[in-house]
Amino acid sequence: MSNKVIVLGEVRDGALRNVSFEAIGAAKTVAGGGEIVGVLIGDDVQGVAQEMSAYGADRVVTVEHPHLKHYTSDGFGQAFMAVHEQEQPDVIVFGHTAQGKDLSPKIAAKLQSGLVSDVTEIEGEGEDAIFIRPIYSGKAFEKVKINEGPVFFTIRPNNIASPEKDDSRSGDVSSVSADIQNLRSVVKDVVTKATDGVDMSEAKVIVAGGRGVKGPEGFEPLKDLADLLGGAIGASRGACDADYCDYSLQIGQTGKVVTPDLYIAAGISGAIQHLAGMSNSKVIVAINKDPEANIFKVADYGIVGDLFEVVPMMIEEIKKTKV
Ligand code: FAD
Repeated sequence: MSNKVIVLGEVRDGALRNVSFEAIGAAKTVAGGGEIVGVLIGDDVQGVAQEMSAYGADRVVTVEHPHLKHYTSDGFGQAFMAVHEQEQPDVIVFGHTAQGKDLSPKIAAKLQSGLVSDVTEIEGEGEDAIFIRPIYSGKAFEKVKINEGPVFFTIRPNNIASPEKDDSRSGDVSSVSADIQNLRSVVKDVVTKATDGVDMSEAKVIVAGGRGVKGPEGFEPLKDLADLLGGAIGASRGACDADYCDYSLQIGQTGKVVTPDLYIAAGISGAIQHLAGMSNSKVIVAINKDPEANIFKVADYGIVGDLFEVVPMMIEEIKKTKV
């Protein structure tokens, strides 16, 4: 049997986030040949609708309203429910992003459905799909099969492959009008922090520093390495607590959960709370001068040494391969 799947695309600064395309990839797996409908919510989202089609959405439905310029759970909740009422899907897919984490339980409660959150892998297809998600801070994996009712799941960024983009694909784009009202919160302005570009949650490479960097200036060689690899900078809570960097960089149980292709941990001891945020990275390289450091237990490659010697050497070697 085929399923009608709706996928919520996430737009930031006028562009679709990668997790939206990965969600279309997940949708294809569970659709069993059924229709995939992309949903875009905002004040001006028509411009990116075609991109959802290029990644495999059969149709795109937009909800535009001045009150949807910035995300609020009330506003986006009302908009999504208007689309849901029209489309009556069998399956709903969101990204497991800050927005998706906030909105999905609200929608699940409204629909009185279950919610499988933070899915990192899907086994099987269509009705037989089994959702795999990490539990106990990534120490175990749970397999979930939904036997009846609407299927609603969120996917962790960077884990499920997005389909190939095909610009020749085009799909119908229609709009749903929603009367967005009774908002309990209104975002008047958004003040963004200046960052060095790459979004950590979607980065393929992360170079993270811990208390071993000794000070804010100790992050400089790590930034050079990250730039060279097209990656993002991250940190342990130890480094954030010591005021070496901003808390927005914190990775771990009480920070961000990341799964890049390559995670380089420099001067990080590997406390269990840090591992909770990065141990599912595809390849982990640890640099630590203590051969007994816990981080080496999860590392694919371990370098015992002083990060201030090792990181510049890595930079030099990588530069040679780039010539
Ligand atoms: P340290 O443990 O001090 O380790 C520094 C490491 O650097 C050492 O291994 C040392 O050998 C090495 N080093 C020193 N100098 C050099 C050098 N020159 N070259 C190479 N290596 C060097 N932590 C997180 O990271 N994320 C979280 O989300 C988080 N949440 C927490 C939640 C709770 C409730 C609690 C209680 C704690 C949490 N922590 C979290 C803190 C965690 O327990 C650790 O204290 C923290 O991760 C330690 O940071 P660190 O590894 O940078 O520092």
